[in-house]
Amino acid sequence: MQFKELKLNKPIVRALFEKNYEEPTLVQERAIPAILAKKDIIVSAQTGTGKTAAYALPILQLLFDKQDTPKKGKKTKALVVCPTRELAIQIAENFEAYSTYTNLRTGLVFGGASIEPQKDMLKKGVDILIATPGRLLDLHKQDFINLDYIETLVLDEADLMLDMGFIDDVKKIERLCPSEKQTLLFSATMPYKVEQLANSILRDPEFVEVAPTSSAAKGVNQVLYYVPKPKKIELSLHLLRNTIKGSVIIFRRTKYGVDKLEKTLLRNNYKAGSIHGDKSQSLRQQALNDFKNGVTNILIATDVAARGIDIKNVDTIINFDIPNVSETYVHRIGRTARAGASGMALSFCSADEKGYIKDIQQLINTAIYVEEEHPYPLDPKTKPEVHKKKGSKYKKGRKSEASKKKKKRWY
Ligand code: AMP
Repeated sequence: MQFKELKLNKPIVRALFEKNYEEPTLVQERAIPAILAKKDIIVSAQTGTGKTAAYALPILQLLFDKQDTPKKGKKTKALVVCPTRELAIQIAENFEAYSTYTNLRTGLVFGGASIEPQKDMLKKGVDILIATPGRLLDLHKQDFINLDYIETLVLDEADLMLDMGFIDDVKKIERLCPSEKQTLLFSATMPYKVEQLANSILRDPEFVEVAPTSSAAKGVNQVLYYVPKPKKIELSLHLLRNTIKGSVIIFRRTKYGVDKLEKTLLRNNYKAGSIHGDKSQSLRQQALNDFKNGVTNILIATDVAARGIDIKNVDTIINFDIPNVSETYVHRIGRTARAGASGMALSFCSADEKGYIKDIQQLINTAIYVEEEHPYPLDPKTKPEVHKKKGSKYKKGRKSEASKKKKKRWY
């Protein structure tokens, strides 16, 4: 299918041409006509499928023909609500790129950054507003945002908004918009609670399911390492030294864990940066830009901070901690092998995480390959025999090369 067939206006098609988009992705092919027909839709699509453009393009198209002139004062007619600042920035960048040759204006508001510039921007008027829930409600309360003219409401990464406790805010925002609006709900996973939310706010929605979450990203080479918890940092260093090349995102469950690993990697002269919820917006953006621009090649992140972020050419994902929610595994490994490329996903599983691996394998319906040849096996029986043999060169009191090196390392 060609973009032309989706009946998009010339200025939009021109912007797509400049971005080298040759044809619509599957989610775009299915969602764009439904959105242009003003239907409510629920889209279940994995990250990297082109879902942002799947709603951004028809929204721009719908607004294109009836845009307000800046003189008359722009009324905000489309609102996109998403859970994290990084995602909001990325969505706004997408809207701006696709609307380059139109007069449509995109605004962006998110928490954790100064509110004054956002107020100034809102005073000038925007056609499309991208927002995280808390800051949106705050600015609405202060009368800087008027939602009375919203024609299309997008809830992006709806499942994560529920996970992050935004459900009440999302419902509040929905009620502040006119009841006859069009609502588009995008969610990588469709847990029961998202379905419930959808049922309560969408009217006769059309369902678009492109790649179920259970289908792990194609082209990802998945490898499992069983390793004792205290040895995970050593295993990371071992793999970074010997196996892994190129850019790497390492996922950790906690902010503390992210900071700790970052310090260790920096002390070992790796070019690493990190993002998590306790870092200021500017530091997070800096870390992200450094990674995108190749200043660093390792990014350590918590799931919440990394969700939905579009970073091209990630060669390897490391699941330093195994996620306890199986879908999170699919999201994480979806950061690599984007847009048809291939990539590696390495998972470090300690004894207490074996149950999570079982659930993940069930969800993706695949047994992940287990790499047994590494220096830190979980089960000591699998350690190289040579350590136990009498008369072997590893005599008592004599240190192996590996253990000598170990002493010099920092962690
Ligand atoms: P998303 O799933 O929205 O995060 O998009 C993933 C990546 O695909 C982004 O880098 C988009 O710029 C890119 N993309 C979206 N639509 C297309 C398309 N039709 N052709 C090529 N790349 C696309």
